[in-house]
Amino acid sequence: MSADIPRPQPVRTAVRHLPTGDNPYVPAPARVMRVADLTHDVRLFELRFSDPRLAESFTFRPGQFVELSVLGVGEGPFSLPSSPTRRGAFQLGIRRAGTLTNYLFDHVVEGDFVGIRGPLGNGFPVERFEGRNVLLVAGGLGMVPLRGLLQYLIDLRDRFGRITLLYGTRAPELVLFREELESLSRRGDAEIVLSVDSTQGRPWAGRVGVVTELLDQVQLDVEHT
Ligand SMILES: Cc1cc2nc3c(=O)[nH]c(=O)nc-3n(C[C@H](O)[C@H](O)[C@H](O)COP(=O)(O)OP(=O)(O)OC[C@H]3O[C@@H](n4cnc5c(N)ncnc54)[C@H](O)[C@@H]3O)c2cc1C
Repeated sequence: MSADIPRPQPVRTAVRHLPTGDNPYVPAPARVMRVADLTHDVRLFELRFSDPRLAESFTFRPGQFVELSVLGVGEGPFSLPSSPTRRGAFQLGIRRAGTLTNYLFDHVVEGDFVGIRGPLGNGFPVERFEGRNVLLVAGGLGMVPLRGLLQYLIDLRDRFGRITLLYGTRAPELVLFREELESLSRRGDAEIVLSVDSTQGRPWAGRVGVVTELLDQVQLDVEHT
């Protein structure tokens, strides 16, 4: 064999030390502090780690997710709709889909414990948003990770320029965090434009159409957004 032919490199395992523990596969117990329905099939779970030190030190980037497990039922990835600027507890917005999520909806109540590993994923490059306008575009359940980002931007409001959220759902009753979004809009913290595919005969003051149609209606300073 010629000495010029490169040898195969040994596979390098990416050891990832997570705040939830040095072994990234071991979940840390977290207590369910609050449960609230966001829509008929999406529920907010507010959680806090049982270990008080972990509860206070746990942090993440907006856009990251955690793995939630229930012993004997299963595990699944869920985005964080809360912001790392608010320490102590964190939230998940979970839609009923199958085995694990049905169990969460039907059996898990305030005071129960679940397992959490994470945070995982890359999250949004929030440092690059500083000094710029930020445009968020979300559809349906995609609002879950963007709500965490929005909270982050609002909590550190001085660091960013104009904040605009375009958010579309299929129908008015499927808008997640609606009161909160309307309140942010009223306070002038962010420009929030909602759209639905169809009003389905319900009262609706927002736009009708798919969310991408809203892009034509916002004034964008492309260089600074
Ligand atoms: C990075 C990431 C982030 C995510 N963030 C979120 C989030 O913030 N919120 C959220 O709600 N979800 C999120 N998800 C999706 C979420 O992880 C899945 O919905 C969840 O893991 C499903 O688990 P489950 O055991 O409840 O469903 P499963 O049992 O795995 O079922 C999943 C799908 O299979 C179908 N299914 C199940 N059983 C049957 C059957 N017998 N016959 C036919 N079909 C069946 C279900 O209807 C469902 O569509 C995210 C996923 C990823 C990858």
